[in-house]
Amino acid sequence: MIDIVDLVNKLIDRDRRALSKAITLVESRKPEDREGALVLLDEIMPYAGAATRIAVSGSPGVGKSTFIEAYGEYLINSGKMVAALTIDPSSRLTGGSILGDKTRMPFLANSPAAYIRPTPSGGLLGGVARRSREVIALCEAAGFDTILIETVGVGQSETEAADMSDCYLLLLQPGSGDTLQGIKRGIMELADLVIVNKADGTLLAAARESATHYKRALSLMPDRLTDWACPVVLVSSIEKTGMDEVASNIASYLEQARKNGSFAQKRSEQIHHWLENETIADLIERFKQDVSIQSQYSDAVKQLDRGRSPARIASQFVSKLLGGE
Ligand code: GDP
Repeated sequence: MIDIVDLVNKLIDRDRRALSKAITLVESRKPEDREGALVLLDEIMPYAGAATRIAVSGSPGVGKSTFIEAYGEYLINSGKMVAALTIDPSSRLTGGSILGDKTRMPFLANSPAAYIRPTPSGGLLGGVARRSREVIALCEAAGFDTILIETVGVGQSETEAADMSDCYLLLLQPGSGDTLQGIKRGIMELADLVIVNKADGTLLAAARESATHYKRALSLMPDRLTDWACPVVLVSSIEKTGMDEVASNIASYLEQARKNGSFAQKRSEQIHHWLENETIADLIERFKQDVSIQSQYSDAVKQLDRGRSPARIASQFVSKLLGGE
């Protein structure tokens, strides 16, 4: 049995082993671990929320991990504590790979001011994001002031990442106008900052040209929640250039968002979504574990043979469960 009070104390004392242990506990799929995880999360909530949460999105191969390594190093050199998390539904297949993440980010893997956490092995109801929010809170309670949330453009992961971050970075690479057409419009609309990575060597000229294309495309988009004009920044993650500009643009964005109230509004919406998602996921989990409900459901399934519509069967099943019939 884990001593939760001791774990919480060590966690807020910035003990890394305690952080890993706490994350393992909240990610555990064993039902007997959940109560401890809930006590832990309740205890650390007052210490969470102070970090800047930055989503880093982009297609595979665009340079996200190289960028996170370079930008993470830049932040650490300016005194920050950086946690790098990944939301990657595709790694469900492999169950995530701590080794993979660590070899992809050697500086961060060896820095005492960094913490790298790969995607938990998935299969969780409510998407891979469900535990990620908890992991963010734990990292914040453990003193990490910048959370970099890497996400690949698969399924819901981009919107999930946007729903747990303060600022959304979209990484693109030099390419022709044709490539630009291939970028999903919705993703461009999510971006608070567009980064054209690989602006180096023989790709530099193409990167400049792409940046012009992207600026034009962005200027044609309707305004979003804020009146922020999404900037386009040239970066080389390998040569580690453009990091100052990334940092100053993020800082300007956050300053404006704090001033006009959109920062607080977004955080408030996010925590409401979190509660909503948890409620639905918890409800479904309990239904699935409840023998009597499962038996009633089996009865409902049998009604399909009588040619009744699934909509009607479901409606009656739920009404009965809620005591409405
Ligand atoms: P991810 O799949 O988005 O995480 O991309 P990676 O960070 O693994 O990078 C994909 C490939 O692009 C690797 O071969 C990197 O070395 C290369 N790459 C990443 N950043 C840069 C950059 O700034 N310049 C150049 N020339 N190559 C880069």
